[in-house]
Amino acid sequence: MKPASRAVHAGRVLGARRPLAPDLSPAAGHVYTELEDYDAVVRGERPGHYYGRNSNSNREMLERAVAELEGAEAGVATASGMAAIHALMQGSPTTSIAVSREAYGGTLAMLKQDFQPAGFRVEFLDLNDLNAVERTVPTVILAETITNPLCRVVDLEALGELAREIESFLIVDNTFATPLFCRPLELGAHAVVHSATKYLGGHSDLVAGVAVGSKALIDNVRAFVSRTGATLGPFDAWLALRGIRTLDVRMHRHSENALALAKAMKSMEGVRYVHHPLLEPSPTYAIAKRILADGSGGMMAFDLEGERDAVQRMISRFKLVTFAASLGGVETTVSYPELTSHRSMSLAERVELGIGPGTVRVSVGLEDPDDIIDDFTQAISG
Ligand code: PLP
Repeated sequence: MKPASRAVHAGRVLGARRPLAPDLSPAAGHVYTELEDYDAVVRGERPGHYYGRNSNSNREMLERAVAELEGAEAGVATASGMAAIHALMQGSPTTSIAVSREAYGGTLAMLKQDFQPAGFRVEFLDLNDLNAVERTVPTVILAETITNPLCRVVDLEALGELAREIESFLIVDNTFATPLFCRPLELGAHAVVHSATKYLGGHSDLVAGVAVGSKALIDNVRAFVSRTGATLGPFDAWLALRGIRTLDVRMHRHSENALALAKAMKSMEGVRYVHHPLLEPSPTYAIAKRILADGSGGMMAFDLEGERDAVQRMISRFKLVTFAASLGGVETTVSYPELTSHRSMSLAERVELGIGPGTVRVSVGLEDPDDIIDDFTQAISG
Protein backbone atom coordinates (compact mmCIF):
# COMPACT_ATOMS: atom_id res chain seq x y z
CA MET A 1 0.00 0.00 0.00
CA LYS A 2 1.03 3.58 -0.67
CA PRO A 3 1.50 5.88 2.38
CA ALA A 4 -1.89 7.63 1.95
CA SER A 5 -3.74 4.29 2.04
CA ARG A 6 -1.60 3.05 4.91
CA ALA A 7 -2.48 6.15 6.95
CA VAL A 8 -6.18 5.42 6.43
CA HIS A 9 -6.01 1.70 7.24
CA ALA A 10 -2.95 1.06 9.44
CA GLY A 11 -3.66 -0.66 12.76
CA ARG A 12 -7.31 -1.41 11.90
CA VAL A 13 -8.87 -4.59 13.25
CA LEU A 14 -11.51 -5.51 10.70
CA GLY A 15 -13.92 -8.40 10.40
CA ALA A 16 -17.61 -9.17 10.05
CA ARG A 17 -19.76 -7.28 12.58
CA ARG A 18 -16.73 -5.41 13.97
CA PRO A 19 -17.07 -1.62 14.27
CA LEU A 20 -15.83 0.43 11.33
CA ALA A 21 -14.27 2.95 13.73
CA PRO A 22 -12.60 1.63 16.89
CA ASP A 23 -14.58 1.34 20.12
CA LEU A 24 -13.12 3.26 23.03
CA SER A 25 -12.01 0.90 25.79
CA PRO A 26 -11.31 2.78 29.04
CA ALA A 27 -11.27 -0.42 31.16
CA ALA A 28 -8.52 -0.50 33.80
CA GLY A 29 -8.68 -4.29 33.95
CA HIS A 30 -10.03 -7.31 32.07
CA VAL A 31 -11.87 -10.29 33.58
CA TYR A 32 -10.45 -13.82 33.44
CA THR A 33 -12.03 -17.11 34.50
CA GLU A 34 -8.98 -19.37 33.98
CA LEU A 35 -5.71 -18.69 35.79
CA GLU A 36 -3.83 -20.47 33.03
CA ASP A 37 -5.41 -18.13 30.44
CA TYR A 38 -4.41 -15.02 32.47
CA ASP A 39 -0.88 -16.34 32.85
CA ALA A 40 -0.56 -16.97 29.09
CA VAL A 41 -1.75 -13.42 28.28
CA VAL A 42 0.63 -11.83 30.80
CA ARG A 43 3.48 -13.88 29.35
CA GLY A 44 2.57 -12.61 25.87
CA GLU A 45 1.89 -16.12 24.61
CA ARG A 46 -1.77 -15.35 23.92
CA PRO A 47 -3.30 -12.07 22.64
CA GLY A 48 -5.36 -10.04 25.11
CA HIS A 49 -5.21 -7.33 27.76
CA TYR A 50 -5.24 -7.65 31.51
CA TYR A 51 -4.27 -4.33 33.12
CA GLY A 52 -4.51 -0.86 31.60
CA ARG A 53 -1.00 0.27 32.52
CA ASN A 54 0.47 -2.66 30.59
CA SER A 55 -1.72 -2.70 27.49
CA ASN A 56 -5.03 -1.54 26.06
CA SER A 57 -6.80 -2.11 22.74
CA ASN A 58 -6.81 1.58 21.70
CA ARG A 59 -3.13 1.96 22.49
CA GLU A 60 -2.35 -1.26 20.66
CA MET A 61 -4.08 -0.03 17.48
CA LEU A 62 -2.15 3.25 17.60
CA GLU A 63 1.13 1.42 18.20
CA ARG A 64 0.50 -0.89 15.24
CA ALA A 65 -0.46 2.01 13.01
CA VAL A 66 2.68 4.07 13.68
CA ALA A 67 4.90 0.98 13.41
CA GLU A 68 3.30 0.15 10.06
CA LEU A 69 3.69 3.70 8.75
CA GLU A 70 7.35 3.84 9.78
CA GLY A 71 8.06 0.31 8.50
CA ALA A 72 8.93 -0.98 12.00
CA GLU A 73 8.30 -4.36 13.60
CA ALA A 74 6.70 -2.91 16.73
CA GLY A 75 5.74 0.26 18.57
CA VAL A 76 4.86 1.49 22.03
CA ALA A 77 2.69 4.51 22.83
CA THR A 78 3.44 6.71 25.83
CA ALA A 79 1.94 9.57 27.83
CA SER A 80 3.88 12.21 25.84
CA GLY A 81 6.65 12.60 23.29
CA MET A 82 9.13 13.22 26.11
CA ALA A 83 8.07 9.98 27.81
CA ALA A 84 8.69 8.15 24.52
CA ILE A 85 12.18 9.66 24.11
CA HIS A 86 13.03 8.90 27.74
CA ALA A 87 11.79 5.31 27.56
CA LEU A 88 13.55 4.73 24.25
CA MET A 89 16.85 5.98 25.69
CA GLN A 90 16.39 3.69 28.69
CA GLY A 91 15.65 0.72 26.46
CA SER A 92 18.62 1.39 24.14
CA PRO A 93 22.33 0.72 24.71
CA THR A 94 22.69 4.23 26.13
CA THR A 95 25.93 5.10 27.89
CA SER A 96 27.22 7.94 25.75
CA ILE A 97 24.94 10.09 23.63
CA ALA A 98 25.63 12.32 20.64
CA VAL A 99 22.66 14.64 20.22
CA SER A 100 21.90 17.42 17.80
CA ARG A 101 22.66 20.70 19.56
CA GLU A 102 19.64 22.06 17.71
CA ALA A 103 17.31 19.43 19.16
CA TYR A 104 13.99 20.33 20.80
CA GLY A 105 14.65 22.29 24.01
CA GLY A 106 12.77 19.75 26.16
CA THR A 107 15.02 16.94 24.90
CA LEU A 108 18.15 18.99 25.60
CA ALA A 109 16.85 19.88 29.08
CA MET A 110 16.19 16.20 29.87
CA LEU A 111 19.68 15.19 28.74
CA LYS A 112 21.32 18.01 30.72
CA GLN A 113 19.25 17.81 33.88
CA ASP A 114 18.54 14.08 34.12
CA PHE A 115 20.95 12.06 31.98
CA GLN A 116 24.22 13.94 32.58
CA PRO A 117 23.84 14.01 36.38
CA ALA A 118 23.09 10.27 36.26
CA GLY A 119 26.51 9.65 34.67
CA PHE A 120 25.67 9.49 30.97
CA ARG A 121 28.16 11.21 28.67
CA VAL A 122 26.30 13.64 26.41
CA GLU A 123 27.86 15.54 23.48
CA PHE A 124 25.88 18.33 21.83
CA LEU A 125 26.91 18.45 18.17
CA ASP A 126 26.05 19.45 14.64
CA LEU A 127 25.09 15.95 13.44
CA ASN A 128 25.95 16.88 9.85
CA ASP A 129 29.57 17.11 11.02
CA LEU A 130 30.24 13.38 10.72
CA ASN A 131 33.87 13.66 11.86
CA ALA A 132 32.74 15.24 15.11
CA VAL A 133 30.17 12.50 15.65
CA GLU A 134 32.72 9.77 14.92
CA ARG A 135 35.25 11.32 17.33
CA THR A 136 32.82 11.14 20.27
CA VAL A 137 32.25 7.36 19.76
CA PRO A 138 28.64 7.54 20.97
CA THR A 139 26.69 4.40 21.81
CA VAL A 140 23.53 6.32 20.88
CA ILE A 141 23.02 9.10 18.33
CA LEU A 142 19.83 11.12 18.83
CA ALA A 143 18.81 13.13 15.76
CA GLU A 144 15.78 15.08 14.60
CA THR A 145 14.78 14.91 10.94
CA ILE A 146 14.06 18.66 10.91
CA THR A 147 15.43 20.81 13.71
CA ASN A 148 13.42 23.19 15.83
CA PRO A 149 13.04 26.13 15.25
CA LEU A 150 15.51 26.78 12.40
CA CYS A 151 14.33 23.86 10.25
CA ARG A 152 17.73 22.46 9.31
CA VAL A 153 17.72 18.92 7.91
CA VAL A 154 20.05 16.15 9.04
CA ASP A 155 21.58 13.90 6.39
CA LEU A 156 20.07 10.72 7.79
CA GLU A 157 21.51 8.62 4.97
CA ALA A 158 25.07 9.63 5.86
CA LEU A 159 24.38 9.43 9.59
CA GLY A 160 22.80 5.98 9.18
CA GLU A 161 25.88 4.77 7.32
CA LEU A 162 28.21 6.20 9.97
CA ALA A 163 26.11 4.67 12.76
CA ARG A 164 26.50 1.26 11.12
CA GLU A 165 30.28 1.72 10.71
CA ILE A 166 30.90 2.81 14.31
CA GLU A 167 28.20 0.50 15.70
CA SER A 168 26.15 3.29 17.24
CA PHE A 169 22.43 3.07 17.80
CA LEU A 170 20.66 5.76 15.76
CA ILE A 171 17.40 7.18 17.15
CA VAL A 172 15.48 9.70 15.06
CA ASP A 173 12.79 12.05 16.33
CA ASN A 174 10.60 12.22 13.24
CA THR A 175 7.92 14.48 14.76
CA PHE A 176 8.23 17.31 12.21
CA ALA A 177 8.54 15.26 9.00
CA THR A 178 6.20 12.35 9.91
CA PRO A 179 6.46 8.99 8.08
CA LEU A 180 4.61 10.59 5.17
CA PHE A 181 7.74 12.51 4.15
CA CYS A 182 10.60 10.57 5.76
CA ARG A 183 10.99 7.01 7.03
CA PRO A 184 14.28 7.03 8.96
CA LEU A 185 14.37 3.24 9.44
CA GLU A 186 14.75 2.90 5.66
CA LEU A 187 17.77 5.23 5.88
CA GLY A 188 19.61 3.28 8.56
CA ALA A 189 18.02 4.40 11.85
CA HIS A 190 17.39 1.77 14.54
CA ALA A 191 14.45 3.47 16.20
CA VAL A 192 12.06 6.34 15.55
CA VAL A 193 10.22 8.46 18.05
CA HIS A 194 7.28 10.88 17.73
CA SER A 195 5.57 13.49 19.74
CA ALA A 196 2.13 12.35 18.55
CA THR A 197 0.88 15.56 20.17
CA LYS A 198 1.90 17.21 16.91
CA TYR A 199 1.20 16.05 13.34
CA LEU A 200 0.15 12.47 14.08
CA GLY A 201 -2.69 13.71 16.29
CA GLY A 202 -2.91 16.85 14.20
CA HIS A 203 -5.68 18.76 16.00
CA SER A 204 -4.00 20.24 19.10
CA ASP A 205 -6.25 18.19 21.35
CA LEU A 206 -4.05 15.50 22.89
CA VAL A 207 -0.59 14.83 24.35
CA ALA A 208 1.04 11.52 23.35
CA GLY A 209 4.24 9.86 22.20
CA VAL A 210 5.13 6.76 20.19
CA ALA A 211 8.44 4.91 19.81
CA VAL A 212 8.96 2.26 17.11
CA GLY A 213 11.75 -0.16 16.22
CA SER A 214 12.57 -3.86 16.32
CA LYS A 215 10.37 -6.14 18.41
CA ALA A 216 13.24 -6.89 20.80
CA LEU A 217 13.91 -3.19 21.39
CA ILE A 218 10.24 -2.27 21.80
CA ASP A 219 9.68 -5.19 24.22
CA ASN A 220 12.38 -3.58 26.41
CA VAL A 221 10.95 -0.09 26.04
CA ARG A 222 7.41 -1.32 26.74
CA ALA A 223 8.57 -3.06 29.91
CA PHE A 224 10.19 0.22 31.07
CA VAL A 225 7.01 2.17 30.25
CA SER A 226 4.88 -0.34 32.19
CA ARG A 227 7.23 -0.30 35.18
CA THR A 228 7.38 3.48 35.35
CA GLY A 229 3.74 4.10 34.39
CA ALA A 230 4.43 6.46 31.46
CA THR A 231 1.37 4.94 29.84
CA LEU A 232 -0.88 6.67 27.29
CA GLY A 233 -4.59 6.89 28.19
CA PRO A 234 -7.11 5.14 25.90
CA PHE A 235 -8.94 8.29 24.76
CA ASP A 236 -5.72 10.04 23.75
CA ALA A 237 -4.73 6.88 21.85
CA TRP A 238 -8.14 6.86 20.17
CA LEU A 239 -7.79 10.53 19.18
CA ALA A 240 -4.24 10.06 17.89
CA LEU A 241 -5.33 7.15 15.69
CA ARG A 242 -8.21 9.20 14.33
CA GLY A 243 -5.76 11.98 13.52
CA ILE A 244 -3.53 9.57 11.60
CA ARG A 245 -6.39 8.71 9.24
CA THR A 246 -6.06 12.15 7.59
CA LEU A 247 -2.27 12.44 7.88
CA ASP A 248 -1.64 12.31 4.14
CA VAL A 249 -4.02 15.11 3.13
CA ARG A 250 -3.02 17.24 6.09
CA MET A 251 0.73 16.90 5.57
CA HIS A 252 0.54 17.79 1.90
CA ARG A 253 -1.58 20.87 2.63
CA HIS A 254 0.69 21.88 5.54
CA SER A 255 3.67 21.62 3.17
CA GLU A 256 2.08 23.67 0.39
CA ASN A 257 0.92 26.37 2.81
CA ALA A 258 4.28 26.62 4.59
CA LEU A 259 6.19 26.92 1.34
CA ALA A 260 3.76 29.58 0.08
CA LEU A 261 4.11 31.58 3.30
CA ALA A 262 7.89 31.22 3.36
CA LYS A 263 8.15 32.47 -0.24
CA ALA A 264 5.84 35.40 0.47
CA MET A 265 7.78 36.29 3.61
CA LYS A 266 11.05 36.54 1.73
CA SER A 267 9.93 39.86 0.30
CA MET A 268 7.90 41.02 3.31
CA GLU A 269 8.97 44.30 4.78
CA GLY A 270 10.19 43.83 8.36
CA VAL A 271 11.33 40.22 7.86
CA ARG A 272 15.10 39.81 7.96
CA TYR A 273 15.47 36.08 7.20
CA VAL A 274 13.19 33.12 6.46
CA HIS A 275 14.04 29.58 7.59
CA HIS A 276 12.33 26.80 5.59
CA PRO A 277 13.92 23.42 4.79
CA LEU A 278 13.03 23.55 1.10
CA LEU A 279 13.77 27.20 0.45
CA GLU A 280 17.17 28.53 -0.52
CA PRO A 281 19.47 29.68 1.00
CA SER A 282 18.76 27.17 3.81
CA PRO A 283 22.21 25.76 4.71
CA THR A 284 20.80 22.23 4.42
CA TYR A 285 18.73 22.82 1.26
CA ALA A 286 20.54 20.14 -0.80
CA ILE A 287 20.10 17.56 1.97
CA ALA A 288 16.42 18.45 2.35
CA LYS A 289 15.82 18.03 -1.39
CA ARG A 290 17.10 14.46 -1.07
CA ILE A 291 15.73 13.43 2.35
CA LEU A 292 12.38 15.24 2.08
CA ALA A 293 11.69 14.89 -1.63
CA ASP A 294 7.87 14.98 -1.24
CA GLY A 295 7.57 17.84 1.25
CA SER A 296 8.62 19.01 4.69
CA GLY A 297 5.34 19.74 6.51
CA GLY A 298 4.21 23.00 8.05
CA MET A 299 7.22 24.09 10.10
CA MET A 300 9.19 27.22 9.31
CA ALA A 301 10.66 30.19 11.16
CA PHE A 302 11.64 33.78 10.47
CA ASP A 303 13.70 36.53 12.02
CA LEU A 304 11.81 39.71 12.55
CA GLU A 305 13.56 43.05 12.43
CA GLY A 306 13.43 44.50 15.90
CA GLU A 307 13.37 42.36 19.01
CA ARG A 308 10.78 41.17 21.50
CA ASP A 309 8.71 44.38 21.11
CA ALA A 310 8.36 43.77 17.37
CA VAL A 311 7.25 40.18 18.04
CA GLN A 312 4.71 41.38 20.63
CA ARG A 313 3.39 44.00 18.20
CA MET A 314 2.88 41.32 15.53
CA ILE A 315 1.12 38.97 17.97
CA SER A 316 -1.19 41.77 19.13
CA ARG A 317 -2.17 42.56 15.55
CA PHE A 318 -2.93 39.00 14.38
CA LYS A 319 -6.54 38.38 13.39
CA LEU A 320 -6.30 34.69 12.42
CA VAL A 321 -2.91 33.43 13.62
CA THR A 322 -2.44 32.75 17.35
CA PHE A 323 0.53 32.44 19.69
CA ALA A 324 0.72 28.97 21.27
CA ALA A 325 3.50 26.72 22.50
CA SER A 326 2.53 23.61 20.53
CA LEU A 327 2.63 22.87 16.80
CA GLY A 328 1.33 20.56 14.09
CA GLY A 329 -2.37 21.40 14.46
CA VAL A 330 -4.90 22.44 11.82
CA GLU A 331 -4.56 26.11 12.85
CA THR A 332 -1.61 28.40 12.11
CA THR A 333 0.28 29.27 15.29
CA VAL A 334 3.49 31.06 16.12
CA SER A 335 5.78 30.45 19.04
CA TYR A 336 8.65 32.47 20.42
CA PRO A 337 11.54 30.03 21.12
CA GLU A 338 13.13 32.39 23.63
CA LEU A 339 10.10 31.89 25.91
CA THR A 340 8.83 28.49 24.73
CA SER A 341 10.88 25.58 23.34
CA HIS A 342 14.32 27.06 24.18
CA ARG A 343 13.61 28.91 27.41
CA SER A 344 15.92 26.63 29.42
CA MET A 345 18.91 27.83 27.33
CA SER A 346 21.02 30.86 28.16
CA LEU A 347 20.99 33.84 25.79
CA ALA A 348 24.56 32.97 24.71
CA GLU A 349 23.56 29.38 23.88
CA ARG A 350 20.59 30.58 21.83
CA VAL A 351 22.67 33.15 19.98
CA GLU A 352 25.25 30.47 19.16
CA LEU A 353 22.50 28.39 17.55
CA GLY A 354 21.21 31.37 15.59
CA ILE A 355 18.04 31.86 17.65
CA GLY A 356 17.79 35.61 18.19
CA PRO A 357 15.35 37.88 20.00
CA GLY A 358 13.48 38.35 16.70
CA THR A 359 13.20 34.62 15.88
CA VAL A 360 9.63 33.39 15.53
CA ARG A 361 8.65 29.79 14.78
CA VAL A 362 5.57 29.18 12.67
CA SER A 363 3.44 26.06 12.52
CA VAL A 364 1.57 26.69 9.31
CA GLY A 365 -1.95 25.30 9.43
CA LEU A 366 -4.57 24.27 6.93
CA GLU A 367 -6.32 27.58 6.32
CA ASP A 368 -6.43 29.12 2.85
CA PRO A 369 -2.83 30.22 2.13
CA ASP A 370 -3.99 33.70 1.04
CA ASP A 371 -5.58 34.29 4.45
CA ILE A 372 -2.42 33.16 6.26
CA ILE A 373 -0.17 35.39 4.13
CA ASP A 374 -2.55 38.36 4.49
CA ASP A 375 -2.58 38.02 8.27
CA PHE A 376 1.22 37.96 8.56
CA THR A 377 1.48 40.88 6.11
CA GLN A 378 -0.92 43.12 8.01
CA ALA A 379 0.49 42.08 11.41
CA ILE A 380 4.14 42.68 10.46
CA SER A 381 4.16 45.49 7.99
CA GLY A 382 0.62 46.86 7.99
N1 PLP B 1 10.13 16.21 19.92
C1 PLP B 1 9.88 17.34 19.26
C2 PLP B 1 10.55 17.58 17.95
C3 PLP B 1 9.01 18.30 19.79
O1 PLP B 1 8.77 19.44 19.13
C4 PLP B 1 8.40 18.03 21.04
C5 PLP B 1 7.48 19.01 21.67
O2 PLP B 1 7.32 20.11 21.20
C6 PLP B 1 8.71 16.83 21.71
C7 PLP B 1 9.57 15.94 21.11
C8 PLP B 1 8.08 16.53 23.03
O3 PLP B 1 6.78 16.07 22.85
P1 PLP B 1 5.63 16.18 23.97
O4 PLP B 1 5.35 17.62 24.21
O5 PLP B 1 4.50 15.41 23.38
O6 PLP B 1 6.17 15.53 25.19
